[in-house]
Amino acid sequence: MKKEMTNIGEISKKNKAGKNTTTDISLYELENDTYLLDTPGFQTIDIYEIESRELAKYFIEFKDYIQNCEYVSCTHIKEEKCGIKNALKDGKISKERYENYIKIYNDLKDKEEHKW
Ligand SMILES: [Zn+2]
Repeated sequence: MKKEMTNIGEISKKNKAGKNTTTDISLYELENDTYLLDTPGFQTIDIYEIESRELAKYFIEFKDYIQNCEYVSCTHIKEEKCGIKNALKDGKISKERYENYIKIYNDLKDKEEHKW
């Protein structure tokens, strides 16, 4: 049974021609820690195919602020000088979206760390 947990909004996705397209995406929770991203017109993506450090790229409105991060490897969670966190403080990024980001990020990170 699919249960829609939250709609995380539009993501940016490269199509076959290498062009960036955007699509609306829904995040489904299947079981305790199994999520699926459902994208109309695309195949369903297993969220764990996304690497944690790549996750911010799927949140299209983050893109404008990532350049303000002090570190290229910024996770946008613990860092002090973070463009995303500043944008959040200024109300340019919604708190809900940011919280979704953290939740998914932590799940991905968990998965990556327990792989081996
Ligand atoms: Zn950052």
